[in-house]
Amino acid sequence: MKIGFVGLGVMGGPMARHLVQAGHEVAGFNRTADKAKAWAQANGGRFAATVAEAADKADLLVLCVGNDDDVRQVVSEALPHLNAGAIIVDHTTTSAMVAREMSELAAGQGRAFIDAPVSGGQAGAENGQLSVMAGGDALALETVQAVLMAYSKAVKHMGPSGAGQLTKMVNQIAIAGVVQGLAEAVHFAEVAGLDTDAVYDAVSKGAAQSWQMDNRWKTMAEGRFDFGFAVDWMRKDLGLVLDEARSNGARLELTALVDHFYSEVQSLGGSRWDTSSLAARLKAR
Ligand code: NAP
Repeated sequence: MKIGFVGLGVMGGPMARHLVQAGHEVAGFNRTADKAKAWAQANGGRFAATVAEAADKADLLVLCVGNDDDVRQVVSEALPHLNAGAIIVDHTTTSAMVAREMSELAAGQGRAFIDAPVSGGQAGAENGQLSVMAGGDALALETVQAVLMAYSKAVKHMGPSGAGQLTKMVNQIAIAGVVQGLAEAVHFAEVAGLDTDAVYDAVSKGAAQSWQMDNRWKTMAEGRFDFGFAVDWMRKDLGLVLDEARSNGARLELTALVDHFYSEVQSLGGSRWDTSSLAARLKAR
């Protein structure tokens, strides 16, 4: 397939590499051109100097950029250059509103837009093990599903445009609460004078077990917070979640509180620490 890829960052770079390795013809564009040049050189893809060049006569355009405005900008620049009937797949975490907006814009020009945020982090992108939650036209998704499997362990259709982004919001809500609970558990164990390693051994095989407990308990106790998904990104995502909740009426008391706690982590200088740094906020008191 002839593919344009826009946004060759922590996630997009390795995803686009998997597409090249799967035998597709991939043209990569990135806002900072040096990153795209380095990506093309390292992976055998083609360097694109503009969005238009990446989109030129492509059957599929994949995005993994930063936020709503980036997606609006890239999609409107790309649309006129894509092949008739082309499909746009957006892996950026955005609002559901922008997904619906882009879907309408694309449909008006004879193209399909699929919102397809991912979970699995940098390691998932590097190892080709991402989980993709998709919204939009089911037939369009089916057409590109095999291509997306180059970097995914699962691609699930969730419903109409925006349903992928709403599903990602559910994912972030669940993570926020679990991580705060875990941070408090580690903190309490320390204050109570327990051996945190022994506590982990005692409780991690029972009902308190979670991915976060298995992967972050020890590092939280050690005060190490350099494991990928940054607090700044999490605050962007929780902002999208809380906006959506204001419009759909969902009650997210804990999520709002954890978002506030993350703002305190940012004040401690933790913008680039990973999400488990909620524990740092408790250590700082
Ligand atoms: P990143 O490393 O900052 O990558 C984003 C890339 O997009 C950067 O290279 C950036 O270029 C480029 N970009 C931004 N706006 C652009 C535009 N208008 N035109 C062209 N290129 C543009 O971020 P990331 O960690 O890969 O995350 C990307 C998206 O995936 C975000 O929405 C994030 O929330 C989501 N996500 C991330 C993770 C994770 O673990 N990192 C996990 C799940 C989802 P520059 O080089 O100029 O900055």
